[in-house]
Amino acid sequence: MARTPLLMGNWKMYKTVAEARQFAENLGQRSADLVSGIDYVVCAPFTSLHVLRVMLPAQVKIGAQNVYPETEGAYTGEISPPMLVEFGTQYVLAGHSERRTLFAETDELIERKVRAIVEHGMVPVLCVGENLSEKESGKTNDIVAAQVQKGLAGLQADQVAAAVIAYEPVWAIGTGKTATAEDAQVVAKEIRQLVAAQFGETAAASVRILYGGSVKPNNIASFLAQPDIDGGLVGGASLDAASFADMAQAI
Ligand code: PGA
Repeated sequence: MARTPLLMGNWKMYKTVAEARQFAENLGQRSADLVSGIDYVVCAPFTSLHVLRVMLPAQVKIGAQNVYPETEGAYTGEISPPMLVEFGTQYVLAGHSERRTLFAETDELIERKVRAIVEHGMVPVLCVGENLSEKESGKTNDIVAAQVQKGLAGLQADQVAAAVIAYEPVWAIGTGKTATAEDAQVVAKEIRQLVAAQFGETAAASVRILYGGSVKPNNIASFLAQPDIDGGLVGGASLDAASFADMAQAI
């Protein structure tokens, strides 16, 4: 089954609304480079979602970086799924390593987020990955498998089929170090096999698996050339419109 490639930016806590507007204008000037047949998403801070939704080239969708898994209530400082839907948000990250480590998010909370995202008609992007000491002690597969299993536990097979899983080795995020494309492929394949065992072959053939961690215009093609890698989750290199467009061209 052909899976549509996905180029997804993760802006993290970067860009004011004015800066987001400038990005949208700059990317608009390069919109002819956003070739068809690829899905494009920018996951921005909540404050910039509206301006991006209005100003980005039509083929670029907006994503959020976080959500609280309740519809409404006394949760000071949080943003609910319906609030994101109202903005036209189509994708939401869950379980990014920065949320797991800096904000103590547990697999249990991440699972609730994934389920809430799906229940409100958006696409969850479940982020998984091992840290350096886990990698060095040979635990990559166990760590990734546990995060995938727990994160998807509340979904049905057809919901998993429409979901996205991002494999991001923690040691490769923002460091300039990347996994080799071959190593990333090994893990992506393991993830797909795990999905097959848990949810069946159809879900495994459809679920999109991204690689993330220091992806740039000059290395994205090597990851996308791997049979089980369907796209990139890109932090630093997604902040610049020219580099976003260059990645679209490189895929
Ligand atoms: P990076 O971030 O591309 O800057 O390494 C990736 C991510 O955290 O999603």
